Amino acid sequence: MNAFNEPQPVSEELLNQVNQAVTDEFAHRVGNLCDLVRIPGIAWPAFDPNNLQLSAAAVRDLFASLNIFDSVDIVTAKMGDTDQDGSPAILAHRAAKNGKPHFLLYSHHDVQPPGPESDWQTPAFEPTVKDGRIFGRGAADDKAGIVAHVAALSVLKQIAGDDFEVGISLFIEGEEEAGSESFRNFLNENQAALEADAIIVADSGNWTVEIPALTTTLRGVVTQQIEVRTLDHALHSGMYGGALPDATMALIRTLASLHNEDGSVAVPGLTHRPAAELPYSEEAFRKDSGLLDGVSTIGTGSLLSRIWTQPSITVIGMDTKPVDVASNTMLPSATAVISMRIAPGDDPDEATEKLRAHILANAPFGAKVTFGPHSSGRPFASDTEGWAFKIAKDALGKAFGHESVEMGVGGSIPFIADLTEVFPSAQILVTGVEDADSRAHSPNESVHLDTLKGAMVAEALMLLNANALSRA
Ligand SMILES: [Zn+2]
Repeated sequence: MNAFNEPQPVSEELLNQVNQAVTDEFAHRVGNLCDLVRIPGIAWPAFDPNNLQLSAAAVRDLFASLNIFDSVDIVTAKMGDTDQDGSPAILAHRAAKNGKPHFLLYSHHDVQPPGPESDWQTPAFEPTVKDGRIFGRGAADDKAGIVAHVAALSVLKQIAGDDFEVGISLFIEGEEEAGSESFRNFLNENQAALEADAIIVADSGNWTVEIPALTTTLRGVVTQQIEVRTLDHALHSGMYGGALPDATMALIRTLASLHNEDGSVAVPGLTHRPAAELPYSEEAFRKDSGLLDGVSTIGTGSLLSRIWTQPSITVIGMDTKPVDVASNTMLPSATAVISMRIAPGDDPDEATEKLRAHILANAPFGAKVTFGPHSSGRPFASDTEGWAFKIAKDALGKAFGHESVEMGVGGSIPFIADLTEVFPSAQILVTGVEDADSRAHSPNESVHLDTLKGAMVAEALMLLNANALSRA
């Protein structure tokens, strides 16, 4: 749905102007980032929730100080169908004028727990600049995303003037790392204020420090518990073993049927797609993943397609007899939990049916299979033809001086599925400030200063370019 005229590439003149404006305020914005990193706002129950209030207030003040919004508020929503408030989020709004595009800018101000202090080379909540990077918990994920939005908006106002016409909604979440429990209610309750033509989700990464990326695909996930039963009670393995199938053996054979000899997924009918061709050697993959010497990779097709755009199946839990109480007994039943990643474009309900049909067809010896708890999350594939994607690709290429690439992410970002459901006509741009060395969620998390600057320039260019668009 292209409601706007074909965007024009950013001019050399505008690029120079934006580069200069970002350079002028960069030190100030790095200071903003460091102030945010000092607030340990963690949305897990074991941590002091007061820090999230402090962090939300600091973020609200940052955006309010731009003097561009009609309103900047701290807002909460209930978690799921409980009575409990989620973490404080920041919601701001400024209406579009003269039919210009409206953007929703997203990032989150909560962070992952730091883990053991001894694993950090510098204190987790004391931002430290070293080797061109800022180290600290949240320095990349996702407080850098927040200051990228702040700087982009500040530059938009400087260059396009106080009366710029592009519309802006802002949603800075406070519990992304803790599962976004109030996210869906928040979207539903604030739908009018969040409605947008394009959504910039600044919470992902770039291919390298030099090569910018848009994250264009995410895999979905299907989690399915299964129970396999073969006997109506446990039996002595000496007296009956050899003539009766025990449940553990039947479960193992059922699970073994989920993969082919080469380790690729054997469930028929699932979606498989190719991934972008980016340089990634098996050697680098082995090193990044810690695969042991002599152990081979599994699957077929390019490595990136195996982790981004093809299905995968992992058995993530099994209940049989624990080792420390093992006795010579044949178990009547055994249970496992299967986690299946599904390719962008696949449907979680259809994929679940295919998985179940495959399991029923492969349970050996007539073993009885029942399906227990099940959950799923939709995959994501962005619209790479729309005006917003074109603007983003042009802006990233100009800002970094290197054409941007399209990345996949093998995991799921459940809230992106929520965004696509609540705002089906919005184009979603998943951008980011991270690079391959950012170590989000790990000790010694950091953001590269050049990448941060590039992200600010790119986002300012996107907003300025959209400000010049007119409705078709
Ligand atoms: Zn994040």
